[in-house]
Formats: sequence, C-alpha cells, structure tokens
Amino acid sequence: MNMNPLSKAASEDVATPKNTKNLIQKHGIVLKKSLGQNFLIDQNTLHKIVGAAELSGDKGALEIGPGIGALTQQLAKAAGRVLAVEIDQRLLPILAETLEPYPHATVVHGDVLKLDLPALIRQHFDGMAGVSVVANLPYYITTPIIMKLLEEKLPLENIVVMIQKEVADRMAARPGGKEYGSLSIAVQFYCEAELVAIVPRTVFVPQPNVDSAVIRLRVRKEPPVHVQDEDFFFEVVQASFVQRRKTIYNNLAARFFTKETKPELEALLHSIGIDPIRRGETLSMEEYARLAAALSARN
Ligand code: SAM
Repeated sequence: MNMNPLSKAASEDVATPKNTKNLIQKHGIVLKKSLGQNFLIDQNTLHKIVGAAELSGDKGALEIGPGIGALTQQLAKAAGRVLAVEIDQRLLPILAETLEPYPHATVVHGDVLKLDLPALIRQHFDGMAGVSVVANLPYYITTPIIMKLLEEKLPLENIVVMIQKEVADRMAARPGGKEYGSLSIAVQFYCEAELVAIVPRTVFVPQPNVDSAVIRLRVRKEPPVHVQDEDFFFEVVQASFVQRRKTIYNNLAARFFTKETKPELEALLHSIGIDPIRRGETLSMEEYARLAAALSARN
C-alpha cells in the first residue's frame, strides 16, 4: 500500500503523459493544431509557471486556453479564484471532470480575442487583492493576445505566459540587438519583462516545432517615459522599424515627410541628440519618446 498522502492527488493531476493520454482517448478528442493545442505533461514546468505568478489565496488567476486543465488545477491550488477561457467546446466536459475538486475555478467558453475581458474580470474577481493572467498560450495568436491584454489596460498585476522562445526574446530585448523592435517597446512600455525559464519541446503533447519560454510581465503602474499621445508614439516606433536595415532618417522621412519637407528632419533629429544615421534598433524608449514629442510639435 502506498502511504504517501500526496500520491492520490498526484495521480489525479492532468499533467502526466499517462493521464493526459487517457483523458483525451476517453473523450474521443483529436487535438487541433489550428487551435495551438499542445498540452503540458510536466509538473515541474507547471510549478515554474505558477511560482512566477506570485499567487495567494486572496488573488485571482485568469487563464487563457485551459485545454484539459493541466495548469488550471495548479492555479486552483495557488489562487483564491480562477477563471479560464477556452474556445474549444469539445474540451468543456473534460474540464468539468478535471476541475471538479475545485469549485472556485470557473470555465467560460469563448474566444479570448472577442470576449469583454474588463467585464469578466469585474464579475469574477471583484474584491480580490490582485489578478494575474497565467497561461500556456496558443502560439498562433500569442502577440494579438498580449497586445489585447496591454492595450485594454486591464487591472492586472502579472502576465505569466509560456510562449515561443523567439517571441519571448523579442519581448524582453534591450536596444542594440536584432531582437529589439516595436514589440519590445510596446511590451516594455506597459510592463517590466523578465524571462523565467526556457522550456524544451518534450514537455508537450503533441510536441510543437519551436522551443518555448516562460516570460513574466509585471504590469507597470505608470509607463517609464512620458508620452503625450500613445497612438502617435507607437506610430513613430512602428515607422522606425519598417525597414530594419535603413537609417532612422530614411524610415521617418518615408512615413512623415515629403520631398520638400525632408530637409527639416535632419535638423530635428540633431536638435534632440539623435544621429540621423542610426538605425531604429539602437534607440531607447526614452529616445523614442523624445522623437515622438519633437515630431508632433512640428505638426
Ligand atoms: N493550458 C493547457 C496546457 O497547458 O496544457 C492548454 C494550452 S494549449 C497551448 C492552448 C489552448 O488554448 C488550447 O486549449 C486551445 O483550444 C485554446 N485556445 C486556442 N485559441 C483560443 C482562443 N482564441 N481563445 C481561447 N482559447 C483558445
């Protein structure tokens, strides 16, 4: 007889190769690649994700894409309330089964990109000390999901997500390297980004064909730079990376200047201490803020 008191709970954990296979077979599910269905089968990886989210009994966790509940179960053990949004209706009966011991975990059927997240957060997490998004994201829509969470300015503490390693590297990149671009600036404008772990493809069923990473985005209370018009700031950033190999002068001239007004640009860049021959990937967020202010003052 096994006297380990944890062994029963462990045998009910979804995230083992055997339990995942059994659940999928029992419910006759064929996983859909088109929905990014790569399920986690490794408790260590789950513990790293949940640990990075800094949850406690008075906090809430919003999960995007619970699948068959591997991460949801661990979130339910660490958080006071869990809300999980799943697009694939076929998985709902499995989730009902795997989350049965956790009445404070709720599943909502829907597309995270279409749902009214501010309303859902209000309804489900009212009065909680903090809410974090914690997820193993469907990789085909990683960036749209992150941008939706950030641009809607949801009242979040942390966003801890497993994503493609290459996208995580771009989100956390500092100026000067080839990974640094408009995604780095957008993410770091709203959050402090930190890589938590690199994850091999062997911890998923089926295995994806890219490496993964867990990234923690601590949502900032205030952006690190002062920007008068956020939309214009991001327009300037986007324009500066349209052709990565071109100078900042050439990219900005193409977007904001005519043949006649182009000579003004060189003077404008010099006046704010930016050498026109630099490339967009070398400018810091503070320099982009200065650039946006100078360009908008000109209009
Ligand atoms: N959390 C589970 C795990 O770690 O094993 C599953 C993660 S799997 C990478 C991504 C999940 O997101 C799948 O269950 C998929 O059906 C779901 N999904 C895909 N697109 C979605 C969308 N637009 N809205 C909500 N869920 C989505």
